[in-house]
Amino acid sequence: MFRTGLIIGAHHEELAFGEKTASRIKKSGIDVIRIADGIPNRRARGELKSSKKTDLDNLYSRIHRKVCGKYDLVIDLHSGLSEEKWSADIFSSEMGFLDFMDAGLKKIFRDKFHLPDKIRLFKIIRNDQTGPKAFDDRFPVCLAFVPEDIVNGKHYRYVGLEVYLTSQKGCMSEYRLSRRLILAVHECGLRL
Ligand SMILES: [Zn+2]
Repeated sequence: MFRTGLIIGAHHEELAFGEKTASRIKKSGIDVIRIADGIPNRRARGELKSSKKTDLDNLYSRIHRKVCGKYDLVIDLHSGLSEEKWSADIFSSEMGFLDFMDAGLKKIFRDKFHLPDKIRLFKIIRNDQTGPKAFDDRFPVCLAFVPEDIVNGKHYRYVGLEVYLTSQKGCMSEYRLSRRLILAVHECGLRL
């Protein structure tokens, strides 16, 4: 059976949003993986960039051990602030899955979301892939934020999801939209 794990709270400031969004998601066959001791999103004053990177790597190896062998798809939920309306960025390293989501999300949401205005798809490239060639792809590219062996791993499909809210806390309609998007990504994973 196809299984999806939804990670909430990797950044601890975003855990409350994750909990509200994930509150009714379990029914749909998605397991919620709550990270109670996530790392701060913003770097503390004076903290070294290298120590933040180590914390991040440690956290994600812990997450990897938790999800490895259990899930086919792992969705890593994050949130940020939007200046206008709710929107979302989806990150994947697999061109095939990005293509599938591009078509699948349009079908699932029909015209309710105006792709690509509200939902953007990004291709995660490897750190050694930078250079002009990387930009020939159909999707905008970005570097991996989590360790590359997770992003490009063979154990499960990793999808990063950053949802932009109109306030720090977000509101009911934004939790609902985020939940629908998670279900849609799960649906795409199931069908591919
Ligand atoms: Zn985050």
